[in-house]
Amino acid sequence: MIISEQKPFEEIQEYLGDEEKIFIVGCSDCATVCQTGGEDQVKEMKEKLESEGKIITGWMILNPACHLLEVKRGFREKKEEVNSADSVLVMACGNGVQAVTEASGKVTHSALNTLFLGSIQRFGQYLERCSLCGECILEQTGGICPVTRCTKGLLNGPCGGAKDGKCEVDPEKDCAWELIFNRLKEIGQLERIKEFKPPKARSKGQQWRVILERKAAAVG
Ligand code: SF4
Ligand code: SF4
Repeated sequence: MIISEQKPFEEIQEYLGDEEKIFIVGCSDCATVCQTGGEDQVKEMKEKLESEGKIITGWMILNPACHLLEVKRGFREKKEEVNSADSVLVMACGNGVQAVTEASGKVTHSALNTLFLGSIQRFGQYLERCSLCGECILEQTGGICPVTRCTKGLLNGPCGGAKDGKCEVDPEKDCAWELIFNRLKEIGQLERIKEFKPPKARSKGQQWRVILERKAAAVG
């Protein structure tokens, strides 16, 4: 899930400047779960902006905001409200903001900071688990990601600085490589810790190129 937080209201006001009429968009998926861009938060934002003298021409919750076809469909349905607005305030992740920008053709403002791809620990608490590197090595690391969870991002750890299982850089965090060691031992795969993991081809993180090429080949 994409974890997000709401930007401070003052920052959002700054973005909107002297624009008077605003259309607000939320997202039914991650931003709803994070309580940053679900229906309740969109309604709250509407009230707050109205109390500051803005006119809200309309709002909608996209299902979800990162689905371009869905976004286009939503904007067709709300054409009049959107067209009469000076801009669209998007309460979704950065991906959603860009889909709305493309689909609406309007000036868009992002109301959220997109933080990371994470797991939900409990309500309102999230764990950063994947950095979308495009070349997953979880098979070799007992299902624990060193790219994201080792503070130095070491592919071939540990660095040797851990103390009592905690990271030398950030003692608040468990040493990812100790977790990996323990996990591999537990599942009878400790030998794997010796497998060399070569430097990552960062370009592989940009999978969109690969996807586009595949699509082009399929069509052509
Ligand atoms: S190795 Fe890469 S793709 Fe796999 S979990 Fe870690 S960051 Fe994500
Ligand atoms: S102590 Fe562990 S988590 Fe911290 S940088 Fe070293 S290997 Fe990575």
